[in-house]
Amino acid sequence: MSKVKVTIWNENIHERQEGPTAEIIRSHYPDGIHNALREELAADDLEIRAVSLDMPEQGLPQALLDDTDTLVWWGHCGHAKVEDSLVDRIQKRILEGMGLVVLHSGHYSKIFRRMLGTHCSLRWREVGEKERVWKVDMQHPIAQGLPDSFVIPHTEMYGEPFGIPPEAHVVFMSWYEGGNVFRSGVTFQRGAGKIFYFSPGHETFPIYRQPEVVRVIGNAVRWAAQSLPAAQTVCWDKDPAPETVYSENPMAKVDTSALHKKA
Ligand code: ZN
Repeated sequence: MSKVKVTIWNENIHERQEGPTAEIIRSHYPDGIHNALREELAADDLEIRAVSLDMPEQGLPQALLDDTDTLVWWGHCGHAKVEDSLVDRIQKRILEGMGLVVLHSGHYSKIFRRMLGTHCSLRWREVGEKERVWKVDMQHPIAQGLPDSFVIPHTEMYGEPFGIPPEAHVVFMSWYEGGNVFRSGVTFQRGAGKIFYFSPGHETFPIYRQPEVVRVIGNAVRWAAQSLPAAQTVCWDKDPAPETVYSENPMAKVDTSALHKKA
């Protein structure tokens, strides 16, 4: 059985900063969120690589992208540091069929906003409140092996309205102690690629050590790895018309071919 090739990308900035907040983050994730997720997701059917922004080619040389079935993305304060040329290369791979799993503050990443085309804004509040995550689509592969709902004891609130396209397919919905609600697990299709966004994962709490959260992400990387049928990614050639056209072309005597040439 061939393994699902997963690449976990993390900006790895908060984990290496100075001060008490960074020390708390390091107490949960001593080698960074990417390496913690690699440990937690470890399974016989997965081949997992963990990379970060500070690596050559920002952690994602083309050969690695070409060898990735699902890319997992965690970013926050370093979104602007990600080169547009890298975003172009990731977008192309997703349209060709690579899966993308975007976590927590990755809602504002260049790649997520590029793929969705919307502002992806949301309400937020950081007071260490409780979150209850509800399964909404009970049959969805990403929801399997989980209880109907589970609690994250301390979290950062992400609330509606969430600025994502209206076709978002909701797999999980969250309720927060402070009263807000949020579409916390949503899927999209772009070209042959599948995309999943999952909001839990604020870095000052050990959320990626919680078994239910790890289960969701594990389900998601396997689901997203199964690409959709190949998508048409270039403009079609001039179509020969399967039926006879009887209409008289008012432009028949004029050569319009120049309109279709690239400027
Ligand atoms: Zn956060």
